[in-house]
Amino acid sequence: MRSDELFRRAQKIIPGGVSSPVRAIKPYPFYTVSGKGGRIKTADGTDLIDCCLGYGPLILGHAHETIKNAILEQLENGWLYGTPAEQEINMAERIIRDQPGIEMLRCVSSGSEATMAAIRLARGYTAKKKILKVEGGFHGAHDSVLIKAGSGATTLGIPDSAGIPPGVAEFTRQVPYNDPEALEQILAADPDIAAFILEPVMGNIGPILPDDNYLKEVREITKAHDVLLIFDEVITGYRLCIGGAAKEYGITPDLTTLGKIIGGGLPIGAFGGKREIMEMIAPAGPVYQAGTFSGNPLSLAAGIATIDYLNAHLEEYRHAEERTRAIEESLPSSAGGSFVRLNSIFKYFFRQNPPNNYKEAKESDTDAFGRFWKGALTKGVFLPPAQFESNFLSFAHTDEDIETIAGVYNSCLP
Ligand code: PMP
Repeated sequence: MRSDELFRRAQKIIPGGVSSPVRAIKPYPFYTVSGKGGRIKTADGTDLIDCCLGYGPLILGHAHETIKNAILEQLENGWLYGTPAEQEINMAERIIRDQPGIEMLRCVSSGSEATMAAIRLARGYTAKKKILKVEGGFHGAHDSVLIKAGSGATTLGIPDSAGIPPGVAEFTRQVPYNDPEALEQILAADPDIAAFILEPVMGNIGPILPDDNYLKEVREITKAHDVLLIFDEVITGYRLCIGGAAKEYGITPDLTTLGKIIGGGLPIGAFGGKREIMEMIAPAGPVYQAGTFSGNPLSLAAGIATIDYLNAHLEEYRHAEERTRAIEESLPSSAGGSFVRLNSIFKYFFRQNPPNNYKEAKESDTDAFGRFWKGALTKGVFLPPAQFESNFLSFAHTDEDIETIAGVYNSCLP
């Protein structure tokens, strides 16, 4: 197989053979040569229905004409200036319009950069040192958040990365998801916590959905203790709906981080929030943050085109909801696991009940997941290769694709 050959070459010169750990499928990952709509083609000549979609950004599918044209138009005018360009204002105006609680926005180049900056900003604004995160929450690959981290870190058994000094790790505290009492206790006992950062819907261990009222209680408890609330909406932003989880659940955080969809498939991140807090960012204020590729016009062109397309096609969100329901309804009655879905996000857990937190998610039978995943791939459906990642639908999947996916759930589950 061509992919096997490529992976052998890669392993000699790229650690683990991949540029990001979760891609290292055993015994070797397939290599992708092209993508169009809801499908990708592999280097081995296989055509696959893609439910990974670049781990979430490609809500409109691969090589969408509108987005491609926006990128091509920008390419004609160059793709990096190092000076301000109108596109960054256009992007900020859209996100401020769409996402509750954002009065000012700064663009960066990845979700990791966005959470790193938001955390520094929270510390700078509050003059407190610690942050609180959710066990199994994933906020990118930087020191403060790679502790009990979900996503590939959990899949590969390294939720606490080597190389993070204990002196750094002790400034990150953890709380279980869906547990307002634990949150209240920790914030009452520790006055040095600057911010609580969480994925409002956990996307990197599941999805795990918030209990009724959980996010409302999170908002009240953080406010009562003068702790900033950071919603990491890198996955949920423009994925659940226009306005993300903040809109869906009617909660206004102090700061929000975004990424993935807002770049239309090109690298991007952004963080924003209350004006008073955001004005602490350099050069307006003393919290430093900078980047060569921040606000690069190419990512912005793709992102703005995506945001405009989504706003003009709101019915697609309703359609996605119907489609993940159809997949759920295809499960055989013998299936002993649990199906969790929210709009275009879905997952089957090899665990009797839907998990409510990290500890419960980790009880899933990952060997059974591995067998199901292989079965799905053999039948032409590429799901993210881990129990602890969310599956996604794009608005480009066809009815036939959805039938094939539903058929896989019907026939490949034990
Ligand atoms: N936050 C969340 C919720 C994410 O899902 C991710 C990436 N999966 C990140 C932050 C980091 O984003 P990036 O990979 O763009 O650095």
